[in-house]
Amino acid sequence: MKHYHDNFRYEQKQKNRSRGSEQKSGGFRCAHCRQWVVINHLMGTANRNHCNVCLWSKHVDEKKGDRRAECRGGMRPIGLTLKHDGYGRVGELMLVHECCGCGKLSINRIARDDFETRILEIFEQSRVLNSQMQGTLQHEDIDLLDDADEVQRQLFGV
Ligand SMILES: [Zn+2]
Ligand SMILES: [Zn+2]
Repeated sequence: MKHYHDNFRYEQKQKNRSRGSEQKSGGFRCAHCRQWVVINHLMGTANRNHCNVCLWSKHVDEKKGDRRAECRGGMRPIGLTLKHDGYGRVGELMLVHECCGCGKLSINRIARDDFETRILEIFEQSRVLNSQMQGTLQHEDIDLLDDADEVQRQLFGV
């Protein structure tokens, strides 16, 4: 019986170890679609903060990357915007997230491995946002992108 017990403990230990290395290799479980989201050099941004499948994020930052928010609410992607680059240039395509817990809006970089079909879906949905949300965006000085050609150019270079 003791032998069995030792074995069991050994297996538990192995399990913990593999979970630890998963963490180290970088990634997190998406709280929205349960997909394992890998963080690596391929995604093209150092600070992955949303799932590349459903593009939901989580409210963990007060300021970018500080991980100090206590809200921990799910952040819904509500639309796209262009980064203000100054000099009249067209900036990079960005995702706009809204926290379902507290309503905070944030703008985030799109990673290279984000699902393009999902980005297009969010773009389509953003065109029918209610007027209350549009007012909130205006208040936060966020211009939602409504130019379909620009989205295509940004995503596919055409
Ligand atoms: Zn997800
Ligand atoms: Zn929140």
